Amino acid sequence: MVAYQPLSFLQSQPCGPWEVYLEQIDRVTPHLGHLARWIDTLKHPKRILIVDVPIERDDGSIAHFEGYRVQHNTSRGPGKGGVRFHQDVTLSEVMALSAWMTVKNAAVNVPYGGAKGGIRVDPKQLSMAELQRMTRRYTSEIQIIIGPMKDIPAPDVNTNEQIMAWMMDTYSVNEGSTTTGVVTGKPVSLGGSLGRQEATGRGVFVVGCEVAALRGLDVAGMRVAIQGFGNVGGVAARLFAQSGALVVAIQDHEAAIVNEGGIDVNALLGHARSSGSVAGFAGATRLDNRDEFWEIDCDMLIPAALEQQITAANAGKIKASIVLEGANGPTTPAADDILAERGILVVPDVIANAGGVTVSYFEWVQDFSSFFWTEDEINQRLTRIMKEALAAVWQLAADRKVSLRTAAFIVGCTRVLQAREMRGLYP
Ligand code: GLU
Repeated sequence: MVAYQPLSFLQSQPCGPWEVYLEQIDRVTPHLGHLARWIDTLKHPKRILIVDVPIERDDGSIAHFEGYRVQHNTSRGPGKGGVRFHQDVTLSEVMALSAWMTVKNAAVNVPYGGAKGGIRVDPKQLSMAELQRMTRRYTSEIQIIIGPMKDIPAPDVNTNEQIMAWMMDTYSVNEGSTTTGVVTGKPVSLGGSLGRQEATGRGVFVVGCEVAALRGLDVAGMRVAIQGFGNVGGVAARLFAQSGALVVAIQDHEAAIVNEGGIDVNALLGHARSSGSVAGFAGATRLDNRDEFWEIDCDMLIPAALEQQITAANAGKIKASIVLEGANGPTTPAADDILAERGILVVPDVIANAGGVTVSYFEWVQDFSSFFWTEDEINQRLTRIMKEALAAVWQLAADRKVSLRTAAFIVGCTRVLQAREMRGLYP
């Protein structure tokens, strides 16, 4: 077998998110039997597009932003994955995020490959008009590779239903016909799905409750700490609090706050909506050092922000017995090992946060049939898919004596590589 050739354009980033993903793939390879022959498929994104996104600023100056769309794999269906606007976005990150979408979509068995996009920009520095111009230009630049049967973007960090509406409109104007199925996470009035906005957080909650039960923990009274208070962390916090769990700590981009008696999540959501952060909330104490968040005494820790947050530097301090990954790629392989050694259960992102893409799939199906489901139908179908995916991975982990991450990767990678093998190489 020819040794894997590192992708030459990434050699300057030895510890990036893509390398974390490659390590995860190396860990699953011995469990894939004859399909391991195809493993390099998963180490080579199918298609990478880097685009220049120029816009005219409100003051008349011209700004250029770096944009990406990576289609990691399309063996099982069109590319699918979000678009992230963040000042730290890199190609390595978008490649890793697209690859995690491949594994995630296969692990929960929605008929998609994996893709991801992003723009290296701090959207908070843009006016609404500038944000719209940037979104439209980016969409137009990546239009050559996206489409309802090719690759379907969706919201991710710092993107929302308004941005999806602009993307859908730009694509449709360029195509000459309204094409709602080109993106998901749209407003409900424009072919969006009920329940999509809260779907990722709801999926995290459903999986969290299942895992708590499997571990003999009662959700009522369970102490939960959450990193991130956006569309994933905020929704998960609300649903856990509604079920009687105590949300004892929250960390966001500004501050980390604690209240051992349980934070009033609805009041905090109102505060964060008006002030933009959890900082300054009267119903909790702010930690002097935000890194102390990782040492909070709790039962369940939910990283729901960015990747590479739980590392060898803080994994030894975590007191939770369960880490539930709401974010993509929040735990490094070195941290995985430390947590496993300490008996802390890690519920991997590719299962725990798959609720968002699952309801994106429902949205796409509804757009094609122009027949829309009730919120109850959506939530019931979401809950069933999440529970079944977790149960299958839990059983496999027990049978093979591997971590839940390795088990989820076995399920996902097996499905992708079986499709790869059956389709065969062309020519
Ligand atoms: N950005 C979300 C994720 O990371 C959802 C992607 C989608 O709905 O396509 O899973």
